[in-house]
Amino acid sequence: SASLDNQQARKRIVIAGGGLVGALCACIMGRKGHQVDVYESRPDPRSEREQALAQGRSINLALSARGRAALARAGLEDTVISQAIPMRGRMIHSANGSKKAILYDPNTEQCIYSVSRQFLNEILLSEAEKNPNVSLHFSHKLVESKVDKGVVTFRNNENIVPTEVEIESDLIIGADGAHSALRQAMLKRPMTNFSQMYIDHAYMELRIPAKENGQHAMDTHYLHIWPRNEFMLIALPNLDGSFTATLFMPIPIFGELQSAEEVEAFFTREFPDAIRVIGKELLIKDFLSSRPSHLISVKCNPLNAGKGVLVGDAAHAMVPFYGQGMNAGFEDILILDNIFDIYKHEPVEKVLTRFSQSRVPNAHAICELALYNYVEMRCLVNQSVFILRRFLDYRLHKYFGKKWTPLYNNVTFSLTPYSECIQHKKWQDQVMSKVKYASWTVLSFTTLSALIFWKDFVQTRVHDALQLVSMK
Ligand code: FAD
Repeated sequence: SASLDNQQARKRIVIAGGGLVGALCACIMGRKGHQVDVYESRPDPRSEREQALAQGRSINLALSARGRAALARAGLEDTVISQAIPMRGRMIHSANGSKKAILYDPNTEQCIYSVSRQFLNEILLSEAEKNPNVSLHFSHKLVESKVDKGVVTFRNNENIVPTEVEIESDLIIGADGAHSALRQAMLKRPMTNFSQMYIDHAYMELRIPAKENGQHAMDTHYLHIWPRNEFMLIALPNLDGSFTATLFMPIPIFGELQSAEEVEAFFTREFPDAIRVIGKELLIKDFLSSRPSHLISVKCNPLNAGKGVLVGDAAHAMVPFYGQGMNAGFEDILILDNIFDIYKHEPVEKVLTRFSQSRVPNAHAICELALYNYVEMRCLVNQSVFILRRFLDYRLHKYFGKKWTPLYNNVTFSLTPYSECIQHKKWQDQVMSKVKYASWTVLSFTTLSALIFWKDFVQTRVHDALQLVSMK
């Protein structure tokens, strides 16, 4: 899939959105030899002004197999991994202050990686720009799309009087995020289905600073979780010794925490060991100066119309609990690239339909899995039935290999399509319930036989004893 062969025409590609997925797409399509123009509504994140604004904020993401595979195609996997922190598992912090490590893969110790969002976006933009056939245009917002003709209009916000530019292309890629303008335009067409759902929990990011010696204040190589059934706190490590913590909670509970005393009392009650590493002053300052952000889940079908196609959050924004939003978005680009390679003789519109047909079931599947994983992270990890099932799953995985891969590992450490991961889990659940049923049957049968045998045994003994007495 390295570069265009002589049967594959060089396309003029317009990408709306230069976030993580749009920038990666520019790298891969640019490498291929296409003429790529990226239009991003915000200013260049690498500019001095933007760097100054981002100072002190470090937001990180969990990178796993699908994201890595796509980065490898862009030639960036090793560079990114060298600037990322491996996380071997979950570190569960109980309410009583005790900790328990649960490895993601006790058999092979595979890990996920904590990587800075800012770093990733910058490196992808810089890599894309190295290619002479890729141009980046910042402060350009998509305002109009005619997907049938391949024509899009962007508004340049840099000047005092905004100007508009109209561009014609062979392919329009909408990587413009959860509230995509390209999707908005596509929805006007008949037979385009769409749903969005805000969950009634929101999130807030908080900082856990490095210790005075620059080291991490908690075990570095874990994703820390404080599961409290209805809500949870998580923290991922940063390279500078800090952690970025995220509090996920029902919106009304955020509403109840308005004063310094209320915030302190809440954290002292729920996360006593977290308040120690964050520091009371910093916690109260960060908490009271931030607003909780909402979480949205978006599904769309089809993902294409005319010469336009949606990727990343524009196609399937999801709640962040599986750590797959970016990974799935990166995988979109891998699959799009593969499908263009395979069907190089077909018109763009037809190839995009093929992409949409292959991607929609998987996009919907990961949106569902992401919702499920919130329950697992904030609640199930504390329950003994879940812990027992997990133990059995990893034992079976050890003996049967890929034939019995636990759901989390299939989603996180393999490129198995998401919908197949769900099918595999359903099959495992069926086997488990049959085994449970069979074990109950065997147990009941054995108990019943033992009882009958015991009754006969006792009756015979009593009968013999009575006969003995009467003979005497
Ligand atoms: P975005 O990152 O939203 O980028 C879209 C870009 O388009 C932006 O730069 C925006 O300015 C631009 N844009 C918007 N409108 C227009 C327009 N009209 N014209 C031009 N440009 C426009 N994913 C993981 O894989 N692992 C994680 O651990 C993880 N953690 C997360 C934690 C939280 C709290 C959240 C909220 C999300 C998390 N995600 C994670 C999901 C991940 O952040 C997203 O899936 C990812 O950012 C999607 O990338 P994108 O490029 O599709 O969209």
